Amino acid sequence: MITLIFLAGGIGSRMGAPLPKQYIPLKNKPLALYSFETFLQAPEITQIIVVCEPEYQHFFPPSVQFAKPGPRRQDSVYSGLQKSTQEMIFIHDSARPFFEAKYIAPLIAAVQKTGAAALASPVANTIKQCSTDLLVEKTLDRSHLWDMQTPQALWRSLMIEAFDYLHKHNLTITDDLSMVEAMGLPTQIVPSSPRNFKITTPFDLAVAETLCAIR
Ligand code: C5P
Repeated sequence: MITLIFLAGGIGSRMGAPLPKQYIPLKNKPLALYSFETFLQAPEITQIIVVCEPEYQHFFPPSVQFAKPGPRRQDSVYSGLQKSTQEMIFIHDSARPFFEAKYIAPLIAAVQKTGAAALASPVANTIKQCSTDLLVEKTLDRSHLWDMQTPQALWRSLMIEAFDYLHKHNLTITDDLSMVEAMGLPTQIVPSSPRNFKITTPFDLAVAETLCAIR
């Protein structure tokens, strides 16, 4: 029913570590395996495609399928899409270890209703839009702002159509809903916890280690 495209193809340059961040050990196992194992146990996920460089495939069980990463996140997603067979696609960043299985059912329901959906948490801080010389242009109304997470999910047929549009218009996007938005089609949010944050910097890794220690 669902293909999971599990993104583990980035190099994690902002972490400054010799190993891509998704393979750094968190407590006793590579960071990527936390959310990977959550999906592996989910009956709704009927195909898993791990997008990673061949040298890192040994981190995952041989039962999954592999796809080669591309230069940008969206190219890695496209690479995974080529091997997908199920009617609905979930895309997850391996750098988000604290994804919880209780969000799978609401995400499926949201895709069935709207066509495309993703987890997101409400923005807690005040966000300002600035010019390149740091002059404030405007203060955004945070009651309408959401911090986008993964999984992002959509129908496979819609995703094929959205990638055609993206390639035709030569667009670069940083999340998957953006390609559906670009076509003028609706997408929706499924409220989630800030716990599902993405590990990007050494600070995030320290927070993740603390969370692991107390759970
Ligand atoms: O770079 P960023 O943290 O936004 O990447 C989000 C996710 O996408 C990570 O799990 C990373 O491994 C993956 N990625 C990828 N291929 C790329 C860039 C990022 O699979 N070219």
